[in-house]
Amino acid sequence: MGYIDEVLELVAQQNPDQKEFQQAVKEVLSSLRPVIEKNEARYRREALLEKMVNPERVIMFRVPWQDDEGNTHVNTGYRIQFNGAIGPYKGGLRFHPSVNLSIMKFLAFEQCFKNSLTGLPMGGGKGGSDFDPKGKSDREILRFCQSFMTELVKYIGPDTDVPAGDIGVGAREIGYMYGQYRRIRGAYEGGALTGKGLTYGGSLGRKQATGYGLLYLTRELLKANNMDIAGKIVTVSGAGNVAIYAIEKATAMGAKVVTCSDSTGWIYDPEGIDVELLKDVKEVRRARLDAYAAARPSAQYKEGRGVWSVKCDIALPCATQNELLLDDAKMLVANGCTAVCEGANMPTTLEATHYLQESGVLFCPGKAANAGGVACSGLEMSQNSQRLSWSVEEVDEKLQTIMVNIFKNLDQAAKDYGMAGNYVAGANIAGFEKLAEAMIAQASF
Ligand code: NDP
Repeated sequence: MGYIDEVLELVAQQNPDQKEFQQAVKEVLSSLRPVIEKNEARYRREALLEKMVNPERVIMFRVPWQDDEGNTHVNTGYRIQFNGAIGPYKGGLRFHPSVNLSIMKFLAFEQCFKNSLTGLPMGGGKGGSDFDPKGKSDREILRFCQSFMTELVKYIGPDTDVPAGDIGVGAREIGYMYGQYRRIRGAYEGGALTGKGLTYGGSLGRKQATGYGLLYLTRELLKANNMDIAGKIVTVSGAGNVAIYAIEKATAMGAKVVTCSDSTGWIYDPEGIDVELLKDVKEVRRARLDAYAAARPSAQYKEGRGVWSVKCDIALPCATQNELLLDDAKMLVANGCTAVCEGANMPTTLEATHYLQESGVLFCPGKAANAGGVACSGLEMSQNSQRLSWSVEEVDEKLQTIMVNIFKNLDQAAKDYGMAGNYVAGANIAGFEKLAEAMIAQASF
């Protein structure tokens, strides 16, 4: 049995009920075969893969909080410090009822390669809680965030571990958590959290960075394949931070985005999504998507899922993991879709990814396509260290350069190993090579 298969078996044995984590490891390691086979003796000697699939540290803790009636509830908090070889652990916090150890570990594992790909000095981590922010009052969210941070504060800091937002954690939650962090620490350590508000050390452009970065990368991908984004029909899933700014940038680039979705239903708007209205519904009113349709005569709201049944040139899944399934991939191919770029983390299942690739659809995985968010968080950390804030133009220019370089690196890595056009392999190889060298150099850990 080859080294990769041995390690995959080990991961399955050691983490029997962690299906998302197993899926992520399988996706990455399978595409690394040519690199690993070329260096097998060296990597085995270092137990490189065994180290790479085992987090440096898993922190789990109790988060008690009180609701507005004075009842106490208890959730579980997590922070996975997966790999710190190339910099402080870095990765978001997710508050969603689906959060469990498997999802946290898959996200942290992916984050290691994503952060490596950005070229910035950031290790990989992820955290969160199974707390459901939906339907909670502002005060309840505050109490939860304070309790969560009271425990997390022991493990994070500008030079150790720097969390940020993710699903269910936006500017409001980061503000509440940073306030509690500062109160306990008694020091102004802005670089301990990213995604902060602009009045207290946040970076201009961070809110937009994942969605904009996704479109900068998509543009490069199309360019490399002699296509242009202007005039294309785009379908987007999700209606959160990533989706909203992906829709905004795609529209600014001359594409027409005709869908978005949330966990209850989806919108088809053949006139093109009105992004200002969407921001009002989601960011200001925090309402469901039927409120968008109620205010927009050209839009239809439908319950359930359905975004991938709409004819498009480009599909951008921006909601959550495993939301684009094999049947969805078949519909996309049948409808003539030419490119799928992942705004969310692992939104496409392995079967769907293979089907898209085999059908000739250009496919860019999330660890490259959505790296703009963490890259901009890296820029926020630099600004905090310098105690300066850069203009939005400066941040956006750096973001564009990073996304262009990510595409160049993954395109080249795929070509170097005889897999031109396989951007999944290219992204994994480019992220892996740097991480592997950093880990081998620091042999003791
Ligand atoms: P948000 O919480 O802002 O938005 C998530 C969106 O996806 C919402 O519209 C939500 O609907 C929908 N959604 C969430 N879970 C489900 C589900 N199980 N089924 C259907 N729809 C769902 O999160 P973000 O936009 O920040 O994150 C989206 C994805 O992008 C995640 O995979 C995240 O890990 C990834 N990502 C985010 C980055 C960032 O900077 N924010 C950076 C890199 C990756 P509803 O409101 O109804 O729950």
